Amino acid sequence: MTCMETQKMITPFINDELTLEETELFIDHVNSCLECREELEVYYALLTAMKQLDEDKILYDDFSMELSAKLDKAQEKIINAKFTYYRKKGALLLIILIVLAVVSWRYSGRREEPVVIVKESDFRLQIKYQRTKENSLEQKLQSYLEKLEMMEE
Ligand SMILES: [Zn+2]
Repeated sequence: MTCMETQKMITPFINDELTLEETELFIDHVNSCLECREELEVYYALLTAMKQLDEDKILYDDFSMELSAKLDKAQEKIINAKFTYYRKKGALLLIILIVLAVVSWRYSGRREEPVVIVKESDFRLQIKYQRTKENSLEQKLQSYLEKLEMMEE
């Protein structure tokens, strides 16, 4: 994230209007960029002072401490969110694995069916083929077999 983008996010950050992803990027930048950190501190002091004036509260003189606390809290929130995210992801992964296992189990059970169907249809086709093409041969064979049977008797 650039300094420009970060500085645009200062007011939304102070007003808790950033998403978790934005907050994470924002904190990452502010922790590594002194310029933006200073900008944030100035804005924070200013906005907090204004808010406190509005709400008729006592002015704190150490905004920097407050800001650090706010940054820590935001970071904690991100870590918590990530933790629940991975926990949810883990649960989701488990569900997917179970579904896959069930599906593949059912599929492997079903897979035998088409093979049987193919065999049957092949068989029928063969019979049909024989009956149409080798009709005379079949008859000859049949009569031959009948003769054999008669001889055996
Ligand atoms: Zn910066």
